[in-house]
Amino acid sequence: MKLTNKLKKVCIAIVLVAYLPLNAAAWGQTGHRIVGQVADYYLTVKARKAVKDILGAESMAMASNWPDFIKSDTYYNYLSSWHYVNIPGGLDQKGVFQFLDNDNQGNVYNKIPEMIAILKNKQSTADQKKMAMRLLIHFVGDLHEPMHTARKEDLGGNKVYVSWFGQKTNLHHVWDESLIEYQQLSYTEYAAAINHPTKAQFNKWSHDSLKESVYESYLACNKIYDMTKADDKLSYRYNFDFVDTLNEALLKGGIRLAQIINGIYA
Ligand SMILES: [Zn+2]
Repeated sequence: MKLTNKLKKVCIAIVLVAYLPLNAAAWGQTGHRIVGQVADYYLTVKARKAVKDILGAESMAMASNWPDFIKSDTYYNYLSSWHYVNIPGGLDQKGVFQFLDNDNQGNVYNKIPEMIAILKNKQSTADQKKMAMRLLIHFVGDLHEPMHTARKEDLGGNKVYVSWFGQKTNLHHVWDESLIEYQQLSYTEYAAAINHPTKAQFNKWSHDSLKESVYESYLACNKIYDMTKADDKLSYRYNFDFVDTLNEALLKGGIRLAQIINGIYA
């Protein structure tokens, strides 16, 4: 009898573990789609035509999720480190720039120029361009998820266990999905709701380098680490404190993505 109970407990534990977000490694589907949708607002006529020639009927919003869908195919395992860059805590801007210059692992910072180069190259095949465009849309989104520029020792917050409205989760997942889903907006509603950059914001975000974009994500990430500790019970107050940071990240991700694509087809 005792053994049966024990077995039952083991079975329940296995089922629970199977449902934990073990490999949460990107804005969730909605976050990526918001970035893709915002970018779509700002494409030039030339860029919009080029994107349509490459993606066909697939919108930028929907193309954004492909790099996460393919994670279930081990053939694409080589892409897994491209979704983020682990940056040590406590660096100033110069330190972050130096770190980015010297990090040899394929990461979200050093792979974006490779995607741009494939799209610019007239020798690239249609398939190569399609893959590069989908990856570019996705990775510019990931770069703006603050916990994708986070620390290696806790796997970008995946090992900082917290609760979200009573549900056990981790800090990385809160930023990938929980905060966004809490807003209860579709990706089109969300993109429209946040698409109000000031002139100054638009000008700055359009001209920032990729390095500066990473540094801004890193600053947001440091603020998140400072204000969130393991075992914190996150709920209404956390949303109140961070929803503006979240929305700004999504908006500038979309605007910068449009600038990159407009630049390719200028
Ligand atoms: Zn990703």
